[in-house]
Amino acid sequence: MGKVYLIDVTNRDGVQTAKLGLSKLAKTMINIYLNDMGVYQSEFGFPTTKHESNYLRANLKLAEMGVLQPIHLGGWMRATAEDVERAYELIPNLKHLNLSISTSDQMITGKFQGAKSEQDILKTATDAVDAAKAYGAETVGLNAEDASRTDIDFLLQYASAAKEHGADRFRYCDTLGYDNPFTIYNTCKRLAEELEIPIEVHCHGDLGMAVANSVSAAMGIIDGGQDAYINTTINGIGERAGNADLVAVVLALKKSKGLAQKYKFGMPIRLSMAWRISKYASYAFDVPIPINQPGVGANAFAHASGIHADGVLKDPQNYELYDFKELGRGEPEIVETGREICSGEYGGISGFGHIMGKMEIDIGRGGDAERILEMVRYANVLAQKPLVSDELRFIAKYPDIAKELLTLSPLA
Ligand SMILES: [Zn+2]
Repeated sequence: MGKVYLIDVTNRDGVQTAKLGLSKLAKTMINIYLNDMGVYQSEFGFPTTKHESNYLRANLKLAEMGVLQPIHLGGWMRATAEDVERAYELIPNLKHLNLSISTSDQMITGKFQGAKSEQDILKTATDAVDAAKAYGAETVGLNAEDASRTDIDFLLQYASAAKEHGADRFRYCDTLGYDNPFTIYNTCKRLAEELEIPIEVHCHGDLGMAVANSVSAAMGIIDGGQDAYINTTINGIGERAGNADLVAVVLALKKSKGLAQKYKFGMPIRLSMAWRISKYASYAFDVPIPINQPGVGANAFAHASGIHADGVLKDPQNYELYDFKELGRGEPEIVETGREICSGEYGGISGFGHIMGKMEIDIGRGGDAERILEMVRYANVLAQKPLVSDELRFIAKYPDIAKELLTLSPLA
């Protein structure tokens, strides 16, 4: 029986979203939280993009140090041999890749406009897989962008070619959120049965079905005899209407009628991280969590009407499907209402010592403390808002790594 694994794409689809972005420190914190939560892989960035290089290298170092373990760190790029070559020039120890090219008629005619035929796409993509394997990639996923609008026979031909060239997984991208739970179940089951390799699903919420489609696709893949890898983002942040929300996907698989008995996670998922990871992503992206967000919204466990309040007071299970404590909620949060000393890009040692002392973070003395403060100043330049305690703790613990991922050298 196949199992479910999560590949979170917040640090790729999430950050490429219009009007949104994350500092390199925030992307690193997200990798750490995803690892703590039990997510299989973080699509951690764009290896061909120069301003990502120091961040990507620093995070691969954290993996070598055991800090980012057992999570896999996967880079995303276009499925061309040139992109793979460039990625390995910049990031030689990249281990996991997803390579992407469009496969639908719409994209072939509407985007490539005659520059590429189906045969060209097969050749370009398989050359890219060959190149990745030649550079020593441990795992390669080949993506079909706009798979849900691609002719199924061509899709099977494309994915089979990828498998023949050594691709480890095939990513079915419902790029425009066009599928529904029935169509995606059937297609993904057929792909799993005919291809006999693990399948990834990448769903978008243009019709409000990203989570339902992801879960349904995973069911189809597992019923078809393969492992299912679901692409998620924290708080569902992604292109346009967003991607499948990480916490909602976990809740659906664990709590929906009859699912947990048959469709199991391949590694333990710590749902208790849900509150922390959602709150952090909301702060880092500057996007509030909707009040009615599953599990983590302000109203997810709120009751006002007489019948509901009475019922939940008698037995919470009357009106709550799961307990707030399972999501790591319920701890009091301290919100400063009086004087406040914050971290900032022009901060000095006295204020900084006060902040770190309050959080009981040891920064040493003299030169050590000055060095950590300098990193915190740079982190503030990039974040443009006060750092949270986990970020300050990270910088104090790994100042050398922080220095590397905070270094941006345009024109270098
Ligand atoms: Zn996407």
